Amino acid sequence: MNRPEIVVTSAPELRIFIPSERRGERLAVRTDGSSSLGHVVESLGIPLTEVGRLLVDGREAPVSHVPGAGETVEVRPVERPQRVPGAPLRFLLDVHLGTLARRLRLLGVDAAYESEDIGDPALAARSAAERRVMLSRDRGLLRRRELWAGAYVYSDRPDEQLRDVLGRFAPVLAPWTRCTACNGELHDADKDTVGDRLEHGTRHTYDVFAQCTSCDRVYWRGAHHARLEAIVQDALREFGGVTTG
Ligand SMILES: [Zn+2]
Repeated sequence: MNRPEIVVTSAPELRIFIPSERRGERLAVRTDGSSSLGHVVESLGIPLTEVGRLLVDGREAPVSHVPGAGETVEVRPVERPQRVPGAPLRFLLDVHLGTLARRLRLLGVDAAYESEDIGDPALAARSAAERRVMLSRDRGLLRRRELWAGAYVYSDRPDEQLRDVLGRFAPVLAPWTRCTACNGELHDADKDTVGDRLEHGTRHTYDVFAQCTSCDRVYWRGAHHARLEAIVQDALREFGGVTTG
């Protein structure tokens, strides 16, 4: 069978997905002559969620293109900020990204999170049903065709993960409007209306400012506030001026 050889060049930030022994700038790849470009790129280990434009001999080509012998394929990263048309921007995070989920919620970003490992098929189905961008460090999950949209989370450190997601998708930031525990929306509250839910010491020390419309959790400006405030201020400083249309 004819097995044409092509040359693949990929952006530096995508080479982390390619096995180290093949991680050159120009990679000679022998295809099976019938596989699409998308399949070839995925077989190198690069999730298609991370791929922007594909150029074949300098001209843009779709993932369905079947590369022929001698072609040079350039794989570009997804553009930032990335637009996800078709639904309001909202996310679904897998079981390993709980801290990132809470930080996104702190900033008012809709971030559903599965605290139990419900499995890749169930996660992908939820992404599709609710039109949520799946965030994960699991490339196998990101390869699932039924995903609404997906994005690889590049760092294993929550602060870098947050900057990665905010820089990539430029969500509208609305700090202190969402429950960090359950992702529900908050409404204003005062001590009088929620007083019976507070312990005596808390009631005397702090000012209540919000309550979750989903789980009734009460929020007040309390002991951990300075640390959370720093996360909010850092995010607003770097990403607060960017909004998606
Ligand atoms: Zn809640």
